[in-house]
Amino acid sequence: MTVKTRFAPSPTGYLHVGGARTALYCWLYAKKTEGQFVLRIEDTDRERSTDESVQAILDGMEWLGLAHDEGPFYQTQRFDRYAEVRDELLAESKAYRCYCSKERLDELREQQMTNKQNIGYDGHCRNLSDAEQDLSKPHVIRFKNPLEGAVVFDDLIKGQISVNNSELDDLIIARTDGTPTYNFTVVVDDLDMGISHVIRGDDHVNNTPRQINMIDAVGGQQPLFAHVPMILGDDGKRLSKRHGAVSVMQYRDEGYLPQALLNYLVRLGWSHGDQEVFSHEEMIELFDLKDVNRAPSAFNTDKLNWLNQQYMKSLPTEEVAKHLQWHLNEQGLDVSKGVSVELLIPEMAERVKTLKELVPAIRYFYQDYEDFDAKAAKKHLRPVARQPLELAKEKFVGEDNWNADKLHALVNATAEELELGMGKVGMPLRVAITGAGMSPDLGVTLEWIGKDAVLRRIDKALKFIAEREANS
Ligand code: GLU
Repeated sequence: MTVKTRFAPSPTGYLHVGGARTALYCWLYAKKTEGQFVLRIEDTDRERSTDESVQAILDGMEWLGLAHDEGPFYQTQRFDRYAEVRDELLAESKAYRCYCSKERLDELREQQMTNKQNIGYDGHCRNLSDAEQDLSKPHVIRFKNPLEGAVVFDDLIKGQISVNNSELDDLIIARTDGTPTYNFTVVVDDLDMGISHVIRGDDHVNNTPRQINMIDAVGGQQPLFAHVPMILGDDGKRLSKRHGAVSVMQYRDEGYLPQALLNYLVRLGWSHGDQEVFSHEEMIELFDLKDVNRAPSAFNTDKLNWLNQQYMKSLPTEEVAKHLQWHLNEQGLDVSKGVSVELLIPEMAERVKTLKELVPAIRYFYQDYEDFDAKAAKKHLRPVARQPLELAKEKFVGEDNWNADKLHALVNATAEELELGMGKVGMPLRVAITGAGMSPDLGVTLEWIGKDAVLRRIDKALKFIAEREANS
């Protein structure tokens, strides 16, 4: 069997992490089996679907690198096809017209509630004769669900599921205005598109028996089903906006790498021993639906942060730089002049969790800082620092060979001449040139900041010390 999976989002909002995980599982399974991955946009709900959402889904999928092999198919472009199948079902008496008024249905529902019966349509119009039909009257089309027996299917994640047909009522497949309903379009599409594996969130598991009955009625190969348990927030409640970022693009905005988010999502509900970090190839090779957890999984931001840092350190720097560029633009930092960001990334990734945090952490390599970090300045830019800063500056001014080793030697020489420990020279200098107390190796930092900026910033530190002396 050739595997064909599909991701079928409704464009009624952004692409959220739950959807992205489903998409990832569909994509992985198709890749693993050398099958096809279909993207289908379920946009029949015209009131809730928007073009922006469609774009957000396409952007999210692209950012994650989950390329589809077929599609995107839009359900709104397939209305003729749904009408065709609907008419076939009508002609074969597998569906029927229902003229029941809203009042009748409300009353029925109330009665069922009072009598503690299953809620659902009672089949009132199921057996109307031709003479009793009046096509000029408003009506919906209902599917004739089998009255007896049970629907049994082997969910690839949840195991065997069985539902009695007596619990399923006759579903509306076309509304009064003729528009098709969700369960019906999914059935027509999955059959037409030759979907072999329906992998989706388990919020749809109750729809599956109904869909299976319709698949049998329409005729065609029934796909296999895999319902993925939902994602919970760290408080055990269903993941939602309350828990912070839920849209995939918000993760980009927050500074996560798509590789890290994918790795995080694949592990969220699936495991392979206790391995945490998976390359793209490993994910494809090792992923299997049978290893997806049956229980819901909880979102854990600390773990995502940890993974993101791992990826910032381990991915090729040009790849990290590519994603960093978005944040540089966003935060207005021009890195076109000065040290290459590709040199900074391995040094600085150690100190931050996200690309968003990386931008302020590297800013001083490209721009003079505005103010000193108050704590660092208080501690290190004291009157005793004036002399070492002056002497170091003097040495730097005459130095044309501006490289880390040479600069290191000059800082050492300054300490030796003044008979000071390295810290007494190095720390004031570090605060002077970076504005704060943390940076990579001092020689390297001096080299990367560049001679002009180093001299200018030492002057700024000396001015700060002088003002401090004057005020004391
Ligand atoms: N369009 C549905 C949703 O976004 C998914 C349908 C399906 O996967 O069968 O929830």
